[in-house]
Amino acid sequence: MMFPSTRGQAPAVGFSQALLQGLAPDGGLYVPTQWPQLGAAAQPAALPELANLLIGAFAAEDPLAAQIPAINADAFSFPAPLKPVGDDAHLRVLELFHGPTAAFKDFGARFLAASLARIPRAGGRVLRILVATSGDTGGAVAAAFHRRPGIEVVVLFPKGLVSPTQQQQLTCWGDNVKSFAVRGSFDDCQRLVKEAFLDQTMRTQVDLSSANSINLGRLLPQAVYYAASSLAIRQQTGSNASYIIPSGNLGNSAACVWARQMGFPIDRIVLAHNANRTVPDFLATGQLLPRPSVATLASAMDVGNPSNLERLLALYPGAAEFAARLAAFSVSDEQIRARIRADHARYGETWCPHTATAAEVHALLPEAERRRQWVIVSTAHPAKFREIVEPLVGEVAVPENLRRLYDLPSSFGELDANLNALRHAIDG
Ligand SMILES: *Cc1c(COP(=O)(O)O)cnc(C)c1O
Repeated sequence: MMFPSTRGQAPAVGFSQALLQGLAPDGGLYVPTQWPQLGAAAQPAALPELANLLIGAFAAEDPLAAQIPAINADAFSFPAPLKPVGDDAHLRVLELFHGPTAAFKDFGARFLAASLARIPRAGGRVLRILVATSGDTGGAVAAAFHRRPGIEVVVLFPKGLVSPTQQQQLTCWGDNVKSFAVRGSFDDCQRLVKEAFLDQTMRTQVDLSSANSINLGRLLPQAVYYAASSLAIRQQTGSNASYIIPSGNLGNSAACVWARQMGFPIDRIVLAHNANRTVPDFLATGQLLPRPSVATLASAMDVGNPSNLERLLALYPGAAEFAARLAAFSVSDEQIRARIRADHARYGETWCPHTATAAEVHALLPEAERRRQWVIVSTAHPAKFREIVEPLVGEVAVPENLRRLYDLPSSFGELDANLNALRHAIDG
């Protein structure tokens, strides 16, 4: 299958090329044009097996096709358990935080790393992954690419603007991962990455790539856990699954929409946003008004201009069609806090602030809607955000995967927010 750009001004590319390039040269995002109907005949199965079916269909004619099973075995090395919530027979939680950095981004990052590591590079050149991060992305990408031969990772984060827990996850790797605290904001880090991509001298000795959430290689693997959980729910209940997804850049929710396009048994898809209400307002008014982001407790969703919106609009071009196929709600910090407390008391569940937005949207559903089979998508382990969660519900036990990272020594450089400083820091 070939993947055109959403903006239609760049040539369509194959699977490997889309993964290597990330963003299309016209600034658009690569999207599939056909949706293999896989859901109707598929049976519940383990994640790697479903990944072979689903991703295999998109990579069929690509040079990587024969390696897809090995890539999936490498990438889907941890589970995505679907668990009951309390004794509500119509509510489950899909836990996506059992990977190396305890957030759902581990799925996409690991698949991308396992794939890029298997794409041959001319003359054995090093592939350098540049990633700007305000939190979860950098850790997941660093973990996924750590010790991959022939690949180097450069993580840029804004100095003093990430939590101590997050900083540890960005700076504990060593080996082929270099981390830098940039004297500036997250926007400065992103600008540096963009400038590096435009600068030819940065590419004389190495190939550059990015691993941010617009990469097709992060989206497709995320569709796999929706395929798996919806098939399991259909088998258990005879009904289709409905999902409430904590959303920021809309990568996780776009993956769910794609799984539904492929015929997996999915009913409603509801986007839970924090106070950054660009998408809920678009659905309510039909007017798309991107705006600067505002800081909230669910910081990984602080996005005012969601990048994957372009992919959803490619599928549902009119505001009316969009609103018919998706719902979106906004949740305040006060509601997040209250929901973490309430569900801890009621169900014994401890949500991270992102997951709590989805739990709050579920709690506000009208009675008639409750009869569907709802799934709260849990995007991170609460221990990653213990500074926020512990004052509300007391101590949060740290899972083994995170504890291991906390015990590693941290090391990072520091640089001014300009390209010369970056060039010097990487090569000097
Ligand atoms: C990145 C992230 C989100 C938002 O996901 P998008 O794909 O950007 O919508 C939600 N929760 C957590 C914990 C995240 O790290």
